Formats: sequence, C-alpha cells, structure tokens
Amino acid sequence: MTAPTPQDIAREAVKRLAARKLPPTPENFQATYHEVAGTRPLRPFPLENLRHIGAQLPDRTPAQIRFKAQFGKAVSQHSWEDLEKVLIQHLKQSAATSAESAPAAPSTPAVIETESLPAELREQIARIVSFTLPAVGQDDAKVVELAEELIAYLKQDSQHLPTLRKLMADFAFRLSFVAQEQQDIRETLLSLLHTVFENIGDINPENPWLQGQMAALMEATKPPLSIRRLENVERRLKGLIVKQIETKEQTLAAQQVMKETLSTFLQRLSQTADNSQHYQQRFEECARRLESASSLAEMAPVVQQAIQSARTMALDSQRTAEELSHLRQRAQEAEQEAQRLREELDRMSEMASHDLLTGVLNRKGLTDVAKGELSRADRGGSQPCLALLDIDDFKRLNDRLGHLKGDAALQHLARVAKASLRPQDAVARFGGEEFVIILPDTSVTEAVEVLTRLQRELSKQFFLEGEEHILITFSAGVIQRRPDESLEEALHRADQAMYTAKRLGKNRVVAA
Ligand code: GH3
Ligand code: MG
Ligand code: MG
Repeated sequence: MTAPTPQDIAREAVKRLAARKLPPTPENFQATYHEVAGTRPLRPFPLENLRHIGAQLPDRTPAQIRFKAQFGKAVSQHSWEDLEKVLIQHLKQSAATSAESAPAAPSTPAVIETESLPAELREQIARIVSFTLPAVGQDDAKVVELAEELIAYLKQDSQHLPTLRKLMADFAFRLSFVAQEQQDIRETLLSLLHTVFENIGDINPENPWLQGQMAALMEATKPPLSIRRLENVERRLKGLIVKQIETKEQTLAAQQVMKETLSTFLQRLSQTADNSQHYQQRFEECARRLESASSLAEMAPVVQQAIQSARTMALDSQRTAEELSHLRQRAQEAEQEAQRLREELDRMSEMASHDLLTGVLNRKGLTDVAKGELSRADRGGSQPCLALLDIDDFKRLNDRLGHLKGDAALQHLARVAKASLRPQDAVARFGGEEFVIILPDTSVTEAVEVLTRLQRELSKQFFLEGEEHILITFSAGVIQRRPDESLEEALHRADQAMYTAKRLGKNRVVAA
C-alpha cells in the first residue's frame, strides 16, 4: 500500500470535519489534518509577539547589536531552534562578562544584605563590646583583637549583615572562653588566699588577736565577692602587716640588747687576754733563763721560745681584734635594721585602718570606707546612713572600775556591735568612747532599727566585772547622707542628733 499523498489527507480531513459538523476554520482543519496523517500538530509560531520583543532589545554595544540581529533572523525564519541557540549563547556570554568586570562581587544578593544599622544601635553595640574588655583583662590578645575588629566595623557607615553576624559570633565565642577562664582564675586565687590565711593562723595559734584577724579574713573572702568585702580584706591585711612589723621590731630590740651585752663581755675578755699574765709569765721566765745562761748553746732555745711566744701572742690579739670588730659591725647592722623597721612601722601605722584596742576601724579606716560609700552613692547608688554613738557615763565607769576595765568595756561594745550589725555595715572608733557606724543601702527607719537592736543586744550581753553585771548604754544620732554632703558635714549632723539624745535623757537613738 502506498503512503497517502497530502491531497488524500486533506480530502479525508474535510470529510471528517463535515461528518463532525465542525466549522472549517484553519485551526480545526489543521488539527484534523494531523489526526488523519498521524503527525503531531505544529505549535503556532508567535511571530508578532517575538518581533515586538526583538524591536525593544537594546543596541548600544556591539554585542547587543549582534544579538539583536541574530534574534531577528531566528524570528523571521520561524526557527525555535535558532532562537534557543541565540538566547542561550547570549546569556552565557553576558554572565561571563559580568563576572570578569566585577570578580569580588558576592554571588549572594549583596544589595539585600547590606544595610545601614541605626547609628545609635551601632554605638551601643560598640560600647557594650568595649566595656567587656577591662573585665576580661589583656591576657587574651585574640579577644581584644576580635573586639577591636568588631568595633571598627561598627564604626563604618553601613554593614554587610553576614560579615557583622560572623564578627559578632567570633567575638562572643572567644569571650565565652575568656569569661570562663576569668571565673576559674578568681576561684583559684580565692582558694589560694584561704590557704594562706589558714597557714598564717596556724603559725601562732596562741595569739588571740591574730586568730581574730584570720577568722575575719576567712569570712571576708567567702564568695560571693564584692568590692566592699575586698576593701575590707585589704584593710585587715595592712593591719596585719603593722602588727607583724611591730612584733619583729620587739624581737630585734631584744636581740640587740643581747648582742650589745655579749659584745661588751667579749671586749673585756679580749682586754684581759691582751694583758694576759700567761705571756707575761713566759717572758719573765725567758728573761730569767737568759740571765742565768752561761753559753750560747743554753741561750738559743730560750730565744727561740721567746720568739714563738711573741708570735702566738701577736696572732691571738689579732684574732681577738678581728672578732671584736666583726661583732661591732653586726651590732651596728642590727641597729640600722631596727631603725629601718621603726620608720616602716611609722609609715605603716599611718596606713593602718583598724583600732588596736577594739579591732574596729580607726578614723583612717572610717575615712577610707566612707570615701568608697559616698562615691558609690554619688555614682547613682542610694545614700548611706551614718550613726554616731557615745557611751553613756563612761567617765563614771572608768572612775569606778579603773581605766583597764574601761578599755575592756570598749572592747565588749565593739564585739557586740560587730556581731549584731549586718555584714555590709562598718563600725569605727571615732574617738575615746565614741563610735561611728556606716550603714549602706539603708533607710533612716532601718538604721534606727539596727541601732535599737544593738541596744537590745547590749542589755542582754552584760559586761562582766567579776560577779557584777554592768550594763553599758549609749546615746546615738542617726542621719542619712544628703547628696553631695561631705563626710564631715554628715558626721556633724549625726553628732548634733546624738547630743539631742543625751539631752533627752541618754540611752536612746535619735534620727535627724
Ligand atoms: P556622757 O554620758 O555625757 O557621754 O558622759 P561620759 O562620762 O561618757 O562623757 P565624757 O566625755 O565626760 O567622758 C568620756 C570618758 O571616756 C573620759 C575618758 O577618760 C574616757 N575615755 C576616753 N577614751 C578612753 C579609752 O581609750 N579607754 C578608757 N578606759 N577610757 C577612755
Ligand atoms: Mg564622749
Ligand atoms: Mg560618753
């Protein structure tokens, strides 16, 4: 059977159209034609649309002109194949050209990721980062470098967000390590400090003052640490040094006396040796034998003995003189050391901040603590309260029991005060029987309560004189420091309030 000709197919297609009662439109005829022939219908070529696109293609560069011509040719030939080739080739070329002209341009959509953060936010982040640096110290150069890099980047006008994100993540990662390390260092130092305190305490378990200081230091270095507690540790350590120098000086002074005695004794002894009868007798004997000698042979051994004795004598006195000068030198050195220690003690005593009788702060210590508290308040903390208390009728107690018992009463009051106050409160001996208490972060009402509690404690814990229970009472003035008020001004107000308490009949607390 021969293959049907296009005329045969066309004829058959018209028949089918008529049979199906379809209107003979070009579309219907084309579809039926392909049905009869068993071929795929051709997609219609959108000539006009493509020409329209071609007309709008740019033609500024030689490459654009070439592309526009190739595009137009493919369209006029109704060739999908050519059109496909021309388009793909053109896209490849333009991709290669843009990569060449901007090699560093990121393939990510940079425009979207590059943003200018608000200046205030950038400044704040930079400030937070720079604030962390003093806390982490200078030991880790890398964290400092990362921080500086991040700060410098934040100072730029705009930030590429992925870069910023990476810089921040790197810094945070390193910082977490450094922070952990700092924490470990702090804990290790603290435990070292504890070991040192324990060992110092063990050196002299008989000394109650030293034991008291050590217990206070152990207590003050218990975590959590605060700057207030560390300042307290520093003050106590200075006190300890003063005491140590004092003890050393006493020991040296005793040694000095011993050396001087020994030196005098040796000096006398050597003088005795100088005039030693022993040698005198020998020379006298030699002289006698020489007188009675009748021959040279008899004389020779006597002369030899005399020479030997003279030599030994010379050696002896030389050795004694050397020993003596050595001893004198050592005594001089000891004197110089004692002098140095005395000067050091004078210097350290000025630095000492605790009262030797009661163990509470002295005036210097009070000034130091107040300085810290006042500047904390000036930096925006709450104002501390100050209490000035004066023991009632202390002169009478002294007169009745004697000065030493008076001292013991002062020690008793200081002990009870320290035990009944809160850890953050500081007690100082202001003068003879006057004490000042600094109460940080406290309202006047609370401060009055603290002082009243101390009064109650003193009425419970009597001062004992043999069998006799002696009640120590005090009058106190309490004030809250005003902004910008100096320590002296605040103390003056507290003093006035204290006098009011005295006038009102003593044994009371007056707030002003
Ligand atoms: P008032 O209730 O008015 O305060 O009377 P007072 O007797 O306590 O006050 P006054 O100021 O007249 O006397 C204080 C006494 O404190 C006088 C002084 O001998 C004594 N004093 C001061 N310092 C010390 C000290 O270190 N030890 C002893 N034992 N007594 C001291
Ligand atoms: Mg007084
Ligand atoms: Mg008094």
